[in-house]
Amino acid sequence: MKMSKLFVQTLREFPSDAEVISHKMLARAGYIRKLTSGVYNYLPLMWRVLKKIENIVRDEMDKAGAQELLMPFVQPKELWEESGRWGAYGAELMRLQDRHGREMCLGPTHEEIITSIARDVLKSYKQLPVNLYQIQSKFRDERRPRFGLLRGREFIMKDAYSFSTSQEELDKEYQNMWNAYTAIFKRCGLETKAVQSDSGAIGGNVSHEFMVITDTDAGENDVFYCDDCDYAANSNHAVSNLPKSIIDGGYKEAKIIDTPNVHSIEELSQFLNCAPSVICKALVYIVDKAPVIALIRGDKTVEETKLMNAVGGLDIRIATAAEIEELMNENGFNAIAGFIGPQGLKKYGEYDVKIIADKTVTELKNFVIGINQTDKHLVGANWGTEVELPAQVEDLRLVEAGDFCPQCGKPLKVTRGIEVGNIFQLGTKYSKPMNAVYLDANGKTQPYIMGCYGIGISRTAAAAVEAHHDEWGIKWPIAIAPYHVDIVPVSTQDETQMKVANEIYEKLLDSGVEAVLDDRNERPGVKFKDSDLIGFPFRITVGKTITDGQVEFVIRETNEKISMTPQEAIQKVIETVK
Ligand code: ATP
Ligand code: MG
Repeated sequence: MKMSKLFVQTLREFPSDAEVISHKMLARAGYIRKLTSGVYNYLPLMWRVLKKIENIVRDEMDKAGAQELLMPFVQPKELWEESGRWGAYGAELMRLQDRHGREMCLGPTHEEIITSIARDVLKSYKQLPVNLYQIQSKFRDERRPRFGLLRGREFIMKDAYSFSTSQEELDKEYQNMWNAYTAIFKRCGLETKAVQSDSGAIGGNVSHEFMVITDTDAGENDVFYCDDCDYAANSNHAVSNLPKSIIDGGYKEAKIIDTPNVHSIEELSQFLNCAPSVICKALVYIVDKAPVIALIRGDKTVEETKLMNAVGGLDIRIATAAEIEELMNENGFNAIAGFIGPQGLKKYGEYDVKIIADKTVTELKNFVIGINQTDKHLVGANWGTEVELPAQVEDLRLVEAGDFCPQCGKPLKVTRGIEVGNIFQLGTKYSKPMNAVYLDANGKTQPYIMGCYGIGISRTAAAAVEAHHDEWGIKWPIAIAPYHVDIVPVSTQDETQMKVANEIYEKLLDSGVEAVLDDRNERPGVKFKDSDLIGFPFRITVGKTITDGQVEFVIRETNEKISMTPQEAIQKVIETVK
């Protein structure tokens, strides 16, 4: 490809709405153009990268025995009603109507469709196990599309679905996909960590996310991990053992005391001169539409996904001041946030108030707790006497760095990760409600035991930029670079330089190398800048030293510059690419 013909326009500045490196660089280097919020055009350079990632994914999935198909992007409501997700999936599901008023949605994922295909075709245990996958655009009307390709509304995903006859068979396929994912990301030049995770809206029990570890804002997930053993988990799923803390408030008797104008745990513990860990904090959440009170030790934080799962909801947020006021009024109290307690809260509109306690509060003694009266607290409380312990006790706690590893007891560390892939054991979550069954060896009908396995193709490309760049631009790993090498004659007016550059170019093309020849009549500085920004893994600069038979070979990864003959440069590229 001649640079003068390449469909690319590099920009001088980063786009103003770009917050993270990959978004900034992909936009500035001419890979992507925003069409509308969270929706991007993949321009020719980007499309080459995406196709390379797709082909690595295809290759490894095929090797692992999976078969590719392609399902429609638009899906009918009826199948989603069968699985129960039409009502359950929130605003992320982009719903639309056709001209006959039939309801449809844009596919955010394809469990319903694949399950309907399977139940029509896979009728006997003899046909199982099967793993089917596709690579396709997905649409999720994300609450906060941001970070360019990392969190788009339309994005490309590889999604695979397995159908097995037993848990053992599913375990085997899960491990098979685990191995394929490890190989895929390695080939893409990405180091990943597999971490335990929450199953979210897709459902199921066991699931792992493949994370690209990063210390930047682009890592939207906190990952807790142990250096001494293999424990690693997303914060929405991580558990830990706690160091010893003060759990006895030491109050000799229970009494209500004035605590004027103390609004936070910190202020309250200072006012009472007690440890935050002897305060039982009560937080009001709205899960889907219903009120939920979470009780947790004052020095700990609620992990919202854990709380949402404890209730079996799909959406969670902290209640507003107005909602808390209404809740209090309806139950005959008058208190603002900071003074809330679990006692006497029964109803909120048409909903019953749910109260769930985190495990940390069960061991508190003579503790401090709100009683739904502004400027007052109860001190010296105990479960079973002054306050009733809620029937539902769960792990709701957000793990913190320094807590002890649940596997080996060593202190946990925290880092950030970009989720590029996710594998789930679904079990019969879809096959049962959708009546997707086969006949077993005894002629009995059985639901398929399913698994599903996703990789964000476009997110993986962006994650590669997050992991491989410097201040000048992208440093693509060779396997997913849009082109392997950029050949830059310093002066297009210089006949010798042009002749040698052309010869190198032709020879590389003949050897199957993806080469670009920068034939533009531009200053060398401009060409080098573009070359670094676009991120060609190699550059061969043909300048004045060609009269001594030398060109400059630049390795983008290290920015190392080596003088060599054109033949050596050609050889070096061919060796690396093959
Ligand atoms: P997240 O938690 O980041 O919203 P998810 O867990 O909902 O993602 P999955 O349903 O597991 O996503 O989808 C499989 C893969 O698709 C993810 O691992 C990720 O790589 C990719 N993906 C999901 N949502 C997006 C998005 N909005 N933009 C780009 N890629 C995405
Ligand atoms: Mg996921």
